[in-house]
Amino acid sequence: MADFVIAPPPLAVVPVAGGQGGFPVRRILCVGRNYAAHAREMGADTREPPFFFTKPADAVVAPGRDPAYPSRTANLHHEIELVVAIGRPGRDVAPEEALSLVYGYAVGVDLTRRDLQNAAKDKGHPWDAGKAFDESAPISAIAPAGAAPPAGRIWLSVNGDVKQDGRLADMIWNVPEIVAEASKLWALAPGDLVFTGTPEGVGPLRPGDRVEGGVEGVGTIGFTVAGG
Ligand code: MN
Repeated sequence: MADFVIAPPPLAVVPVAGGQGGFPVRRILCVGRNYAAHAREMGADTREPPFFFTKPADAVVAPGRDPAYPSRTANLHHEIELVVAIGRPGRDVAPEEALSLVYGYAVGVDLTRRDLQNAAKDKGHPWDAGKAFDESAPISAIAPAGAAPPAGRIWLSVNGDVKQDGRLADMIWNVPEIVAEASKLWALAPGDLVFTGTPEGVGPLRPGDRVEGGVEGVGTIGFTVAGG
């Protein structure tokens, strides 16, 4: 194998619950506006279907680490989300087959520079600066999938105050539909993570804020917003 001309970038890895090793991250797909109440709070047309955007693999913040307050924003927002970890390849899969691609589930926070995202929306510009920045994807350990996808409560608190408290059953696209839709647009491969959208109640974070969250049947996440 040829030598690299620079050191290869480190692989982003998320631990698997129970100490079964690490899940190497290939890329991160995210669903936008997958809960009607959140679409409404964003001022969006709820008749529009959900859609995808992406974050780079190295946006993940592994459990036990604290994300830094990002540069160039005055309005960092939290979005608690169920995360689907893809363990088998697939393209153009039907919803009925989609769960066979799933390795497991995690709890993630889609950190968002809301001011930059809103400015991009106004100008018809891409969302990358608002969504795909460094340390924008804190995530819990991955729980290997059971027979059925998680279906219960999803919640997030800031400094002990519950800000988001929803139900996965309220997702517009459910997990099989998300995986099937994504596989029509991209060849899904082991290592892909899919953030599945956030319920209503998103809001600002400040340096020093303690964030706790969870998804029933999956796990919990906790971090403190660093720096600033
Ligand atoms: Mn989101």
